[in-house]
Amino acid sequence: MPLKKNYVPAAEFLKNFKGSILLASHENPDGDTVGSALALYLALKKLGKDITVGCKDKVPYFLEFLPASRDYIKLPTEREFDLCIIVDASSHTRLGVPVKAKKFMRIDHHKGGDFYGEHDLIDVEAPATALVAYYLLKNLNEELIDRDIATCIYTGLATDTGFFINSNTDADTLKLAAYLVKRYKVDPHEVAVNVKERNPVRRLKLLSKVLDTLELHKGGKVASIYVLKEWMDKLGATYEDTEGFVNYARSIDGVEVAIFIIEKPEEGVWKISLRSKGNFDVSKVCEKFGGGGHEYAAGCKIDRKYSLEEVKKLLLEAINL
Ligand code: 5GP
Ligand code: MN
Repeated sequence: MPLKKNYVPAAEFLKNFKGSILLASHENPDGDTVGSALALYLALKKLGKDITVGCKDKVPYFLEFLPASRDYIKLPTEREFDLCIIVDASSHTRLGVPVKAKKFMRIDHHKGGDFYGEHDLIDVEAPATALVAYYLLKNLNEELIDRDIATCIYTGLATDTGFFINSNTDADTLKLAAYLVKRYKVDPHEVAVNVKERNPVRRLKLLSKVLDTLELHKGGKVASIYVLKEWMDKLGATYEDTEGFVNYARSIDGVEVAIFIIEKPEEGVWKISLRSKGNFDVSKVCEKFGGGGHEYAAGCKIDRKYSLEEVKKLLLEAINL
């Protein structure tokens, strides 16, 4: 498979690294950060490394089927690590909590962000960090990859590409997915059922409320939806239950950009998710508000001193469609 990035230095760095390592997933973890971190965790454990995997938030129910998902520790922790590897995030601030480490490393596919040194492995052309993790392991020692590790990688690839339909899906993505299925016997159906078809009833009830908030703007090119904390509390729902809601807004014929606004009073913010059908770069919009992401999927946070209507207005002004 054609690779533009040199994966060898990061592989050598990890192979030779002697101290304790924390693999850290970003807050509100998704399939890519969890799949990539667990793939690396399982492989580095096989190599006998002193390795821990952690996240501020718990692994969402739809990823609990992944091998070793129960090994995640809750961050922050008092422990200081020799190395913290930030997985699928552009900077340590995306972890949502402080981490004590002598050294940082980034394994990722986001543009821009913070750099921690020569050993960083950031491949902005990769559709998912899971692909970066795969080639890193291939360069480290291909023998380490087994069915469990391949399943984690496949799940990262599948979730970040919206099960191989988002605009980041290309021939190399499909080839790698097919290879993981053929060579390691990853079961695509098992992954899909676990990720997509274990919805709790509360999630669908919440979705019905959220879809009621749908508004179209800019002659139908932008769609917005929102969720209030009070609705989640009433249904016993949490933020993980809102994963993917934004795609319903994007799915409307003629919509180029979808906005999903999530009320997060405990952080004093509105969490924003933007999605594009591919012709408008939503990461540029989120960067204006201190966030980031990709052309087709990006996020940011906006202070709750702004009302919901003000937040919509701010976003619509920034989306120059
Ligand atoms: P989501 O909308 O699912 O939270 O995130 C979509 C994409 O935007 C992901 O690639 C994610 O890493 C990125 N993203 C989401 N929120 C933030 C944020 O607050 N800051 C930055 N830099 N990236 C974000
Ligand atoms: Mn990702």
